[in-house]
Amino acid sequence: MEQPAKKIIIALDGFSSCGKSTFAKSIAQRLGYIFIDTGAMYRAVTLYALEHGAIRSGIVDEEAIIKQLGDISITFRFNPLRGASDIYVNGDLVEGKIRTIEVSNCVSPVSAIPQVREKLVAMQQEMGRKRGVVMDGRDIGTVVFPDAELKIFMTADAKVRAERRFAELTAKGDKVSFEEVLENVVSRDKADMSRAVSPLQQAEDAIVLDNSYMTVEEQMEWFDNEFKRVQEALA
Ligand code: C5P
Repeated sequence: MEQPAKKIIIALDGFSSCGKSTFAKSIAQRLGYIFIDTGAMYRAVTLYALEHGAIRSGIVDEEAIIKQLGDISITFRFNPLRGASDIYVNGDLVEGKIRTIEVSNCVSPVSAIPQVREKLVAMQQEMGRKRGVVMDGRDIGTVVFPDAELKIFMTADAKVRAERRFAELTAKGDKVSFEEVLENVVSRDKADMSRAVSPLQQAEDAIVLDNSYMTVEEQMEWFDNEFKRVQEALA
């Protein structure tokens, strides 16, 4: 008799604007898993800092952010219309406000603050305690869940990624230039890879998915094979 699939942790790391969230959301829906977008959590702290004077004219005041951390309560609530969870800060829905270019431009220095990471990583570990989660970020397979059963490292050509993000932002009515978006994608990758604490890096046991020229369907087919392989190994 076929064994029921074992609930596992799927760690999804990679560069910015690779389509990690779209991929993670689709997988979670297929498997009935919870999808956790950890980038949204770093963005939420950044938004709070912007709105409460800890980032002024692009200058990040680390001490002020560390002081604010105790005042920030982050929660997720499932939104059936999106098929994913919306993020709230102190009870306020901030999903729409965290994806602006302003937040994107400040999030890397905020996420490099060790105290910020400590708080958010502890929350992420708690959310995945019962397994059955797909978590996307930069350090999931290396720091948050080094014991994740399936680790995927996603990448795509920088220009392709910038084109996707540019289309997303302009569709929302944001006035940005393609060059600005490309510059943000490239500089964020550089900052995320070179920071001292939990830099973006491929876990030794991660499998690489370069989706530059893959459709979502092709990516799902690739995933189904990998998931099957892991389940067979666990059986
Ligand atoms: O995934 P997203 O692009 O929304 O992430 C925004 C930023 O949050 C990243 O550029 C990175 O600086 C930070 N981040 C991180 N660790 C994670 C997730 C995101 O440092 N696990």
